[in-house]
Amino acid sequence: MLPSTCREVRQLLVKLGIEYKQIHACKNDCILYRDEYKDNEECPVCKEKRYRTDVQGSTVPNKVLRHMPIVPRLQRMFRCKSLAQLMDWHAKNRSKDGFMRIPMDSKAMKHIEEKWPRKFKDEPRSIRLGLAMDGVHPFSFLSSNYGVFLVGLIVYNIPPWMSVRKEHLMLTLIVPGKHQVKKMDVYIAPFINITGFKTHDYHNFMKVLTSINCYSYHLLTKTYFDIL
Ligand SMILES: [Zn+2]
Repeated sequence: MLPSTCREVRQLLVKLGIEYKQIHACKNDCILYRDEYKDNEECPVCKEKRYRTDVQGSTVPNKVLRHMPIVPRLQRMFRCKSLAQLMDWHAKNRSKDGFMRIPMDSKAMKHIEEKWPRKFKDEPRSIRLGLAMDGVHPFSFLSSNYGVFLVGLIVYNIPPWMSVRKEHLMLTLIVPGKHQVKKMDVYIAPFINITGFKTHDYHNFMKVLTSINCYSYHLLTKTYFDIL
């Protein structure tokens, strides 16, 4: 029943819509080799080479970003009956006494809803995402100069005790690096770039997000609607 090889596991993940993409990056975090830079052999900013030769003599990229697209995973959430029922939980459980109990009671979230009412206030099923990132040093901090930075997403639509459970946290980027990543904006770009909108500036994130139309089928109401 379960796949017996790594290749079969990958094929299964692709069918479930949770595959990942590899994007080559500059060793010094200047750019990603995609769009206008996809065929470049060296970084246009720092002139560092894109590839190196490893100990076995093979040509390998200096740095690779792993990107797991989130839209297929979000769409799958609305096809699960129990989760689809909870996508407007945050709107039905707001604090009425002025105390903040869930992230959606915060001033920041209210501001977002007031500023983009069509996307958020009028459609409680629109996805509210929190973005978190942290570095991990798998072989202890001091003895290794290798680390990875993970960028994860938290879905605020569902109850807080569910949103932080491992099955609902979404890992979207794995950034390799040493002790720190110099320009995280560069790596955040593919996540923002979910429908082909070109930007390398994640401070424009809300502007980009509100310009995107991404439809999903809602199992309970049997309708298609814009999730982002
Ligand atoms: Zn560079």
